[in-house]
Amino acid sequence: MKVEVDEHACQGHTLCAMVAPDLFTLRDEDGHSEANNGGEVPRGLEQAANSAISSCPERAIRMIED
Ligand code: SF4
Repeated sequence: MKVEVDEHACQGHTLCAMVAPDLFTLRDEDGHSEANNGGEVPRGLEQAANSAISSCPERAIRMIED
């Protein structure tokens, strides 16, 4: 499972990084979110990824099934 942040849709609300700090990092320059590890979701963090997706008010996070 992978996740991807649409950098144009992201408005830097920080919710994803609060819900899933192991999966998302906010960039210093603009406060927008980036998925860690190229978006790869480690085993056991799938629930956190889903919570981050539902927490994003801009619907900027997309799940990519592999
Ligand atoms: S919750 Fe959504 S809008 Fe906010 S930082 Fe994360 S991806 Fe961006």
